Amino acid sequence: MNADRPSVAIVGAGWAGLACAVECVARGVRPVVFEAAPQIGGRARAVELDGLALDNGQHILIGGYVDTLAMMRTVGADPDRLFDRLPLSLRFTDGFELRARSGSPWAQALAFMACPSLTWGDRLAAMRLMAAIRRAPAADETVTQMFARTRQTDTNVRYLWAPLCIAALNTGLDDASARVFAQVLRDTLLGRAGASDVLLPRTDLGQLFPVPAAAWLTRQGGQLRVGERVRGISPNADGFALDVASGPELFAQVVVATSPHHVPALIGALPGTERIAAEIACLGYEQVTTVFADFGEGARLPQAMMGFADGVPHWIFDRGALGGPPGLMACVVSAADAARDDTERAVIDAVRRAFPSLPEPRRVRTLTDR
Ligand SMILES: Cc1cc2nc3c(=O)[nH]c(=O)nc-3n(C[C@H](O)[C@H](O)[C@H](O)COP(=O)(O)OP(=O)(O)OC[C@H]3O[C@@H](n4cnc5c(N)ncnc54)[C@H](O)[C@@H]3O)c2cc1C
Repeated sequence: MNADRPSVAIVGAGWAGLACAVECVARGVRPVVFEAAPQIGGRARAVELDGLALDNGQHILIGGYVDTLAMMRTVGADPDRLFDRLPLSLRFTDGFELRARSGSPWAQALAFMACPSLTWGDRLAAMRLMAAIRRAPAADETVTQMFARTRQTDTNVRYLWAPLCIAALNTGLDDASARVFAQVLRDTLLGRAGASDVLLPRTDLGQLFPVPAAAWLTRQGGQLRVGERVRGISPNADGFALDVASGPELFAQVVVATSPHHVPALIGALPGTERIAAEIACLGYEQVTTVFADFGEGARLPQAMMGFADGVPHWIFDRGALGGPPGLMACVVSAADAARDDTERAVIDAVRRAFPSLPEPRRVRTLTDR
């Protein structure tokens, strides 16, 4: 690496900051990554609780994340080994099931047509939506409005579109942007072959990317400074000065890779950033709650990932079937706003109603993040 090349500071060692650092190295630029937290990975990180290897929240990836998967390979993390890759299967605890196909949009259309849980009215409505999203919806249209415009049936909304929208955007249908959701559907159901495949992690989130990325960066001469918060960024004759605990540090370029709500405080001293700061201030945040419940070694689900049409939880994952401790289930409540204890009890009750053979869990740990 050329020591004369301009140096780049990256604020945040979540997946975005680490990916940015890898890309910098690939282009011969020296990155220095600052991470305020005591660990890397940000909102997709491993968490250890009472000796259990968990994550801050259950995650899935999809086949359409082509660049993320390529980035994993760059740092030596093999997606073929680290994920169970399955064609999208929307299987619900009440018996509804749609098995999409790992193929072209035509194969997906056939899957909808062949789905015994859908009537012909549902199938035609689904095709209407698929045709409509080929053009971007109006910027201010909500997902609810798009469903009304394309005359979606109650079954389609309940079992197909609402679960996908809430899972992908973590936002209720009345607030979610039709344009963004349409893009998600285009990239997955109408994307290239395999784009709608579901990738279920067989390891903790740290091992998927942050840990191998950090090791790779260090080997390549990049710097990772964990536990060092950047307090502000100010302009400087040659670039930018970062305010860190040890004093100001100068960089030619700075990439801010924090979550949006951290950005305004960081860039407040930079001229010309008022508009972006004001736009970020308008953003709302929804939480995701994951209830990890240990039902004991014999507990298994019929399938590693299953949906609940009534929404608490939205999804359940059998971590034991995915290389984790047998009997450990991760139950996800997206766009969660209820109090933690209420959510936890409601989730356990719903899971035991859906799977009556499951005993009362031996241990429950609930994590909420946003
Ligand atoms: C519970 C949960 C479940 C999710 N499930 C999925 C899923 O299934 N599929 C999916 O694709 N996405 C999912 N997401 C979203 C996904 O986790 C995020 O989009 C992604 O992790 C964001 O990464 P990031 O690097 O952009 O930001 P972050 O992960 O937020 O990383 C930003 C980093 O910046 C650091 N930082 C902040 N301020 C400073 C500062 N001043 N100085 C230094 N460091 C700073 C933070 O500590 C953090 O580590 C989920 C998110 C949550 C919370």
